[in-house]
Amino acid sequence: MLMLAVVTVAALALWNYYDGLTRLASEGRHEIDLHVAHLRGLLAKYEPLPELLATNPRLIDFLRAPGGQESIEGLNRYLATINRISDAADTYLMDAEGLTIAASNWQAERPFIGRNFSFRPYFRDAMAGQLGRYFALGTTSRQRGYYFAYPVRDGDDILGAVVVKLDINETEHRWAQPGRIVLVTDPDGVIFISTRPEQRFRTLQPLDPASRARILASNRYPEAALAPLGIREHLHLKAADEDREGALFAPRLVQLDGDNAWHAAIPYLLQSRFMPDAGWQVHLLTDSRALIRESLRLSLLAGALIASASLALVLLRQRQEGRRAHAALAEEARAALERINLELERGVAARTAELTRANQRLRDEIEERRRTEQALRETQQALVQSAKLATLGQMSAGINHELNQPLAAIRTYADNGRLLLAKGRTEEVAANLAQILALTERMAKIGSQLKLFARKTSGEVSALPLAAALESAARLVAPALRQADARLEVEIPPGLEVRANDVLLQQVLVNLLGNACQAVEGRARRLIQIRAWKAEDQVVTQVCDSGPGIPDDNRQLIFEPFFTTKAPGDGLGLGLTISARISADMGGSLGVLPGSEGDGACFELRLPAA
Ligand code: ADP
Repeated sequence: MLMLAVVTVAALALWNYYDGLTRLASEGRHEIDLHVAHLRGLLAKYEPLPELLATNPRLIDFLRAPGGQESIEGLNRYLATINRISDAADTYLMDAEGLTIAASNWQAERPFIGRNFSFRPYFRDAMAGQLGRYFALGTTSRQRGYYFAYPVRDGDDILGAVVVKLDINETEHRWAQPGRIVLVTDPDGVIFISTRPEQRFRTLQPLDPASRARILASNRYPEAALAPLGIREHLHLKAADEDREGALFAPRLVQLDGDNAWHAAIPYLLQSRFMPDAGWQVHLLTDSRALIRESLRLSLLAGALIASASLALVLLRQRQEGRRAHAALAEEARAALERINLELERGVAARTAELTRANQRLRDEIEERRRTEQALRETQQALVQSAKLATLGQMSAGINHELNQPLAAIRTYADNGRLLLAKGRTEEVAANLAQILALTERMAKIGSQLKLFARKTSGEVSALPLAAALESAARLVAPALRQADARLEVEIPPGLEVRANDVLLQQVLVNLLGNACQAVEGRARRLIQIRAWKAEDQVVTQVCDSGPGIPDDNRQLIFEPFFTTKAPGDGLGLGLTISARISADMGGSLGVLPGSEGDGACFELRLPAA
């Protein structure tokens, strides 16, 4: 990429330079044509002048008889006039010996008159009867000039020659312009016109010794060193279109030696044209540095353009790639999010369903349990009730006796009272009535106890004095105690309170006392002992009897429902079961203490202390 850019820029610069050179060459060709035309015009202007002058009888007469009627001064003036009108440098007349006998510059500091120029080729040509043309550095004037000479004839005799010299300094001035060097070389390659004065009389190519000697001998360029200019050629451009005379040379790219290093570095476009009539070559050296600068500028511009275009391209690509990557990333993230979301939703749905199922199961279980509990409670209540009724049934005989006794006593007191009243012993009657009153009170008490026992309980617990609870229970089992002829010993510390339901507690105690009565009935020793004490946060109550006790095998079984060792009608086998259950419900327990058979049974009731 970079390589390509560099190659492109270099190619562009080279192409531009080459194209510029071609353009310069084309311009140069026009310019050189102009210079050639100018030189030709100049020469053409002066060429006929000597011939014209040679036909002048004054010149012929003077040459034929110098010092005759034509005065020298008059001729000099005439030549000066001609010279001024034709704008030539000098116009002069030479005799056959080559001696200048009249000249336009007769009044100048160093006039030509009296000087011999017979060595000049133009003189020799003229004396040979031809038009002499020659370029040389004037030996007297030290001015470069182009000489036209023409023979002055008198019939077939050649008396001398008339010469017109033209100045080329002005031409040089006219050609001078920056960035260009115009040179004109003679057939030997010696530069005799140059817009750069230091190049005058140097040669384009080194001269071979023979030519050098010949030129020096001709005295054409007196005191000229004829050192080579030193042209290094670099590039030969495509062959220039040959003109009619075939005199246009292909332009070349050159550098000049000498001068100084700076000038030596200047690449010039060298173009040359041959002038056949004069034998000269006109050269144009055009400074091509501007072209190089232009090419450099162009390549810089192109480089900058390519660089910025590449940069823009790279940025664009990067941005596109970035956008693509971003979009891909966003799409990926979105897909991942969707996936996770879906999984989450699925998970939540599954979990919710599971939870709903579990919840339903739980609700069902709770409902089931509630129903079971309800049934259990109902069963339990029914059991308690039936147990109570069973106990009541057991107690009914005793109760009957208990009620009949006071009734009989009341009747006796009432009978006695009627008799005593008849006898007027009112005081004794009053005593009998008091007895009756006491007895009815006792009966009423029994009734209320039974009512209390039979009633269904709400199950509420409260702080109860244990002694009172035992007393009312004992009152209920009093008939049984009497029937068994058992002795009840109670040892309860005063103020001992339990947290219990009064009805249920009474039921438990009645049951334990009832069983004890049955156990001691008919035994030699008939003692029932009740002891109670507080142990930490519980109250322990032991009901022990001197009955036969409980065999080890039955110790677990007695708390099972419907386990009984009693005759049908005497026991249902529910008393202990229900009592144990009631105790547990109230936060306590009921158990039988281990003891050897025959020593009697000992039940232990534990209840929370109040
Ligand atoms: P029931 O008294 O109707 O038989 P219980 O549940 O009250 O029902 O008693 C179950 C059994 O426990 C009795 O049948 C009896 O064998 C035994 N039992 C209960 N109390 C005593 C006791 N104080 N002495 C000996 N055995 C007892």
